[in-house]
Amino acid sequence: MADAAETSIKVVCRFRPLNSSEVARGDKYIPKFQGDDCVQIAGKPYYFDRVFQSNTTQEEFYNAVAQKIVKDVLDGYNGTIFAYGQTSSGKTHTMEGNLHDPKMMGVIPRIVQDIFNYIYSMDQNLEFHIKVSYFEVYLDKIRDLLDVTKTNLSVHEDKNRVPYVKGCTERFVCSPDEVMDTIEEGKNNRSVAVTNMNEHSSRSHSIFLINIKQENSQTEQKLTGKLYLVDLAGSEKVGKTGAEGTVLDEAKMINKSLSSLGIVISALAEGSSYVPYRDSKMTRILQDSLGGNCRTTMVICCSPSSFNDSETKSTLLFGQRAKTVKNTVCLNVELTAEQWKSKWEKEKEKNKTLKNTVTWLETELNRWRGGESVPAEEQFDKEKAKAEVQALDTALNNDKTPPKPALNTLPGVKLTDAEKEKYEAEMAKLYKQLDDKDDEINQQSQLVEKLNQQMLDQEELLSSSRRDHDTLQTELNRLLAENEASKEEVKEVLQALEELAVNYDQKSQEVEDKAREFEALSEELNEKSSSLASIDSELQKLKEMTNHQKKRVTEMMSSLLKDLAEIGIAVGSNDIKQQESSGLIDEEFTVARLYISKMKSEVKTMVKRSRQLESTQAESTQKMEAMETELTACQLRISQHEAKIKSLTDSLQNVEQKKRQLEENVDSLNEEIVQIKAQEKVNTMEKENEIQSANEVKDAVERQIQSHRETHQKQISSLRDELDNKEKLITELQDLNQKIMLEQERLRVEHDKLKAADQEKSRQLQELTVLQDRREQARQDLKGLEETVARELQTLHNLRRLFVQDLATRVKKNAHMDSDDTEGSTAQKQKIRFLENNLEHLTKAHKQLLRDNADLRGELPKMEKRLRATAERVKALESALREAKENAARDRKRYEQEMERIKDAVKPKNMGRRPSAQIAKPIRPGQLPGASLLNPSVNRSNLIKGGGNTR
Ligand code: ADP
Ligand code: MG
Repeated sequence: MADAAETSIKVVCRFRPLNSSEVARGDKYIPKFQGDDCVQIAGKPYYFDRVFQSNTTQEEFYNAVAQKIVKDVLDGYNGTIFAYGQTSSGKTHTMEGNLHDPKMMGVIPRIVQDIFNYIYSMDQNLEFHIKVSYFEVYLDKIRDLLDVTKTNLSVHEDKNRVPYVKGCTERFVCSPDEVMDTIEEGKNNRSVAVTNMNEHSSRSHSIFLINIKQENSQTEQKLTGKLYLVDLAGSEKVGKTGAEGTVLDEAKMINKSLSSLGIVISALAEGSSYVPYRDSKMTRILQDSLGGNCRTTMVICCSPSSFNDSETKSTLLFGQRAKTVKNTVCLNVELTAEQWKSKWEKEKEKNKTLKNTVTWLETELNRWRGGESVPAEEQFDKEKAKAEVQALDTALNNDKTPPKPALNTLPGVKLTDAEKEKYEAEMAKLYKQLDDKDDEINQQSQLVEKLNQQMLDQEELLSSSRRDHDTLQTELNRLLAENEASKEEVKEVLQALEELAVNYDQKSQEVEDKAREFEALSEELNEKSSSLASIDSELQKLKEMTNHQKKRVTEMMSSLLKDLAEIGIAVGSNDIKQQESSGLIDEEFTVARLYISKMKSEVKTMVKRSRQLESTQAESTQKMEAMETELTACQLRISQHEAKIKSLTDSLQNVEQKKRQLEENVDSLNEEIVQIKAQEKVNTMEKENEIQSANEVKDAVERQIQSHRETHQKQISSLRDELDNKEKLITELQDLNQKIMLEQERLRVEHDKLKAADQEKSRQLQELTVLQDRREQARQDLKGLEETVARELQTLHNLRRLFVQDLATRVKKNAHMDSDDTEGSTAQKQKIRFLENNLEHLTKAHKQLLRDNADLRGELPKMEKRLRATAERVKALESALREAKENAARDRKRYEQEMERIKDAVKPKNMGRRPSAQIAKPIRPGQLPGASLLNPSVNRSNLIKGGGNTR
C-alpha cells in the first residue's frame, strides 16, 4: 500500500427548495446563506466544506462535490458518498435524481458516466475490471437487491481486515448502460418485495458499491478502488414520527443503524479508543468510510421549511460532528516485486533509525533517571542518530558482521521476532475467531429471528384458530339450528309425501272403483244391446207373423171373393140350382164367418203383440238413454280421474324433486356440520395440547376429515347416480304417461264414435218406431177393412136371407100361381144389380187392400235391410267398445304396474335415505368427528398416535 495521508471527512450541505405543499402552507424559508460554506439557521451559523443553496442544479452539485471522487477511485483510493437527512429532504434526489434525465440525474448516474468516460481517456496499457453490487439494509438486515433470494447477508473481513458483505451479488459491467440497467433491476426488486415503497425507502439504507480494479499490463501494477454510494434512511426518529404498523422492536431496529452511525461518528469525533462499528451492519460495512481508508464525502440534505427547523438543526449538527472525523487514506496498490524490495529497504532503514533513536533515548532516559545530568552534546539529536545509523550501516557493510540486535539489548522491549510472529498469528487467529463468532452470532440471531417469527406465526395462528373456533362455534350453532330446521322440514316433507302416497292410494282406489263401475256399465250396455238384439229378433218374428197373417187374410179374402163370384155366377145363371146353392152359400158363409172371427182374433193378438213390442221398445229406448247418460257420466268421471291422476303424478314429481333437494341439503348440511365439528375438535385439541401437538392432531383430524369427505363424496356420487337413475325412470314414466294419455285420447275418440253410432242407432230406432206407427196405421186400416168386410158379409148374409126368403116365396108363388113371372124377374134383376154393385165395392176394397199390402211388402225388405244394418252396426260398435275397454283395461293395468313400480322405487329410496340423514351425531370432547361413519377404533388410534409423536 501507498503512503497514508490523514484527511477529514468532507461534509457539504444542500438545501432543497420549498416544495409545493410547503409553499401552499405558507411555510417560511429559514436558511440564510453566508458565502459558500456557511448557513445560518435562527441566527446560528453552521460551517461546512460547501453549502449549496436551493437553486443549485444537479450538474453544479456534481461538479463541485462528486466529480473528484471518480478520479480518486480510478487512482486507487476508496471513496464514499453519504446522503444524510430527514425524509424528503432530497437524499434520493441528490444520489439518484431522475436516472434517465440528463439534466435531473443525480450523483450516481453521473459518476457512472464519468468513470467510463475517464477510463476511455486513460492509458491503453491499463485494464479495468468493474463490478457493482447493490444492497439495502433494513431492520439491520442486508438484502441483496440483485438477488431477491439473499435476504440476510453477513459482513466479513478480508485478509486486510477490511469488512465486506459476504456472498453479495457482484455484477461485472462494461458500460454505463449496463450499470444503469443493474440499478434499475435493483430498484425494481426493491419495490417488488415491499408493500409500501415510500415508507420502506425512508427507513432503509440503500448502498450501491462500485468496485474498480485496474492493472497496468506493462508495470504489472494493480490498483483497486471501492466507491460506496449510500442513500441513508431518513434521519428523523421513527418513534417520534410514530411509524404506523411497527411494533416497538421494529422501530428500535429501524433507528439502530442510524443511531449507531451517530454513535460511531461521535466516537470518532471525540477520538475515542473504542469505536462500536460492530453495533450495526451498516456501520460495519462502512467501517472503512468512517475513520478508515477512504475519501468520504457526506452530503447533509436539509429542508428549508420552518416546519422542519428542528430536524434541520439536528441534521446540521450531525454534519458538523462528522466534519471532525479523520480518515487515513492510502492508495490501494498491489506492488510489483521490485517495488516491494525498495519499499522493504526503505522500511528497514527507517526501522534502524527508529531503533537507534529508541536506544539512544532510553539510555539517555536511564541516565536522567539515575540522577545523572546528560550534557547537551550527548542528548538525543535526530540528525546525529541518522548519521550514526548510516555509519553503522557502512561499517556493517564493510566487515559483514551481523548487527547486534539493538532491540533485544534494550530494557522494556522483551519481544522476540518469534514471539511477535506468534502473537501476530494469535491475533489473526483471534480475529478469525471473532469473525467466526460474528458469523455464529449472525446465524444465531437469524435463528432467533426465525424462531421469533415462528413464535409470532404460531401466536397468530393460535389467536386466529381461537377466533376461528369462536366463529366456528357460532357457525356450528347456527348450522345445528339450521340442521334442526331442515330436519323438521324433511320430516314435514316426508309427512307430506306420506300424505301424498295415501292420497295416491285413495285416488288409485277410486280409479279402480271407477274402472269397475265402467266395466259394470259396459256389461250392462252389453246386456242392453243383447236385449235389443233379442227385441229385434222378436220384432222380426212379429213381422214375419204379420206377413203370414196378411198373406192368410189376402188368401182368405181372395177365396171369399172367389166364393162370392161363384155365388154371383150361380145366382145369375142357374135358378134351378138355387135350392142346392142356398145350402152351399150358407155353408160358405159359416166358413167365411169362421175365417173372419179367426182373423179377428189373430188381428187382436197381433195388436196386442205390437203394443207389447212398442212398450218394450220404449223401455229399451229409455234404458238406452239412461245408459247413455250413465256413459257420459262415466266418461266425465274417467276424464276427471285422469286429470286428477295427472295432477297427482305432477305433484308427486314435484314432491319427489323437493324431497331430493331437501335430502341433498341435509347431506350438505351434515357434511358441513361434520367439517365444523372436526374444526372445532381441532381447536379444542389445540387449546388442550401444545401448539405442535395440536398441529399434528389437526393433521390427523384433517386426514380423517379428508377420508370422511372422500367417503361422503363417494356417497354423494352414488346418491347422484341413483338420482340420475331415478330421473331416467321418471322420464320413462313420463313417456309412458304420455303414451297412456294418447291411448286415453284415442279411447275417447272411439268413445265419441261409439256415441255417434249410438245416436245413429237411436235415430234408426225412431225411424223404426215411425215405421211401426205406420204399420199400426195399416193394421187400423185392415181393421176398418175387416169391419167393412164384416158389414158387407152381414149385408150379404141379409141379402142371402132375403134372397132365400124371396126364393121361398117365389117358389111358393110358382107353386100357387105361375102368372107373376115378369115381376119376379125384375125384382131378381134389381137384386143382381144390387149385388153387382156390392161386388164392385168389394173388388175395389180388395184392390185397395192388395195395393196397401203390396206397398207394405215393398217397404218390408227395406226395413229388414235397415234393421240388419243397424244390428250389424250395433255388433261392430259392441266389438269396438269391447276392444276399447280391453285396451283401456290393459293400459290401466300397465299404468298401475308402473305406479306400483315407482312406489316401490320411492319407498326403498326413502328408507335408504333416512340413515344418511342421521349421520350428524352430536360430537363431544374426546370423541372424534366422523367416528360414526368410519371405523372408530382406527380413528382413535390415529389420534393417539398423532398426539404421542409430538410428545
Ligand atoms: P428523500 O430521498 O430524502 O426522502 P427525495 O430525494 O425523494 O427525498 O426528495 C423529495 C422531493 O423533493 C422529491 O420530489 C424531489 O424531486 C424534491 N427535491 C429534493 N431536492 C430537490 C432539489 N434540490 N431541487 C428540486 N427538487 C428537489
Ligand atoms: Mg429517498
